[in-house]
Amino acid sequence: MSKTSSKSHILMFPYPAQGHMLPLLDLAHELHVRGVPITILVTPKNLPKLNTLLAKHPSINTLVLPFPNHPLIPAGIENVQDLPPNYFLPMMHAMSELYNPILEWFRGCTCPPTAIVSDFFLGWTQVLAVELGIPRVVFSPSGAMALSVTSLLWRDLPEIGNGDDENVMFEFGNVPNSPSFPWWQLSPIYRNYKQGDKQSEFIREEMLANLVSWGMVFNTFDELESVYLDHLRKHFWVERVLAIGPLQPVKGDNDAERGGSNSVVTSGITAWLDGCPDHSVVYVCFGSQAVLSNKQMEELASGLEISGTRFIWCVKDPTMGHKKNEYGVIPSGFENRMEGKGLVIRGWAPQVLVLSHQAIGSFLTHCGWNSVLESLIAGVPMLAWPMGADQYVNATLLVDRMGVAARVCEGAGAIPNAYELAQELAKSVSENNITRRARAVELSKAALATVKEGGNSCKSLDTLIEDLDHELATRKSQEMITGGSFGCNGVATIHD
Ligand code: UDP
Repeated sequence: MSKTSSKSHILMFPYPAQGHMLPLLDLAHELHVRGVPITILVTPKNLPKLNTLLAKHPSINTLVLPFPNHPLIPAGIENVQDLPPNYFLPMMHAMSELYNPILEWFRGCTCPPTAIVSDFFLGWTQVLAVELGIPRVVFSPSGAMALSVTSLLWRDLPEIGNGDDENVMFEFGNVPNSPSFPWWQLSPIYRNYKQGDKQSEFIREEMLANLVSWGMVFNTFDELESVYLDHLRKHFWVERVLAIGPLQPVKGDNDAERGGSNSVVTSGITAWLDGCPDHSVVYVCFGSQAVLSNKQMEELASGLEISGTRFIWCVKDPTMGHKKNEYGVIPSGFENRMEGKGLVIRGWAPQVLVLSHQAIGSFLTHCGWNSVLESLIAGVPMLAWPMGADQYVNATLLVDRMGVAARVCEGAGAIPNAYELAQELAKSVSENNITRRARAVELSKAALATVKEGGNSCKSLDTLIEDLDHELATRKSQEMITGGSFGCNGVATIHD
């Protein structure tokens, strides 16, 4: 890593969902330690999520803009995590109302940012960046395989035939290793697309705008996804595609708190794990949003009990969209019967801390991309239960390509068979999982090496900064020729 005295100043703009914000903030840290001035744009209720980062880097600026009103988003809610499932689209719409406020802010600013790094769900920032005359870098919190698949969907608009059912297969022959998925596993945002419909066209434009950006950075690494990164480089119009991951949590005073206040005392969990043999515990967590129905809870609880394995199970409370008594209820008596054998965490778990403990033998996960990377960094093989979004693609990568996970269930509403699940749980912490564990350890080594000095992801981050600085210098000399002005030590001043 080279510490630069970068002339660039980056406006970083996360999409307000936990799985999107966390890695973008980690990227802000990486850029800042390389000497890049950073301003982070959030709405007021999301500001506390920056606490760890700002405590570490007080010189990072924030731009706090009021959350735009949206008819489907109740007042006071500013993060997808607090909304019913499938509210990604209204949130995308709401955020796009920030276009003019951001423009005004830039115009009133004496030292405005010279580039924008924004989440791929903020595709309209591409248009904004063009209007401001600065480069926009897309941040993808998803992997490159997932983006290869969704980009093809939005570009080519394949349709389900009349009379076809949800199980009809869609083949992505263009994507390396030709993956295929049934219709129901494709992105729900895409499945709801209707040609000519205003909302649908908005989202398509958003997704396609990403593909003409100045650059795209992925929270991934070559050893995991080089073929998909190459595919994106070859088949889309984006100028540079860089793998800069796996991004690691910003180290703060309380390293265990990533993205939320833990619902448990971490020392208690660590002490419990310390008393367990190596690789003997299954960690169960389905990300920041998924809430299981009671039937799913029962089967999962039975599976854990029958398997006889040690476990830590993180259970999320129902949110606005769930009927309270029908979701997230832990079967009666389960916790008492499991005392000593397992821990149930209700609420927010210190996931990174748990996964990094040597007692963890496997991770039953929904395959959210952050969870996947965190598991790989820790060298923990996975049991895959993809439930939506990019998770089916991620599961395919992990199970079929990388050999680091086994599929145990599929679908947000799917109910696993307790006995079959029990077998997989038991196997995942036994000698029979040795091949997957070895693969996970290999990938862990690669993941840790690539972000170190001399590693590809580390070099790509340096390249990103160099290229942004070079771009700025070029613009500056063009402005000088055409009579524009630069202030702030070479930073462009934007005029009306
Ligand atoms: N996470 C956590 N504790 C929890 C649930 C989630 O720390 O109880 C973190 C997890 O470590 C990951 C992120 O929240 O960094 C979830 O992102 P992911 O992409 O895995 O899933 P999503 O929440 O986007 O579905």
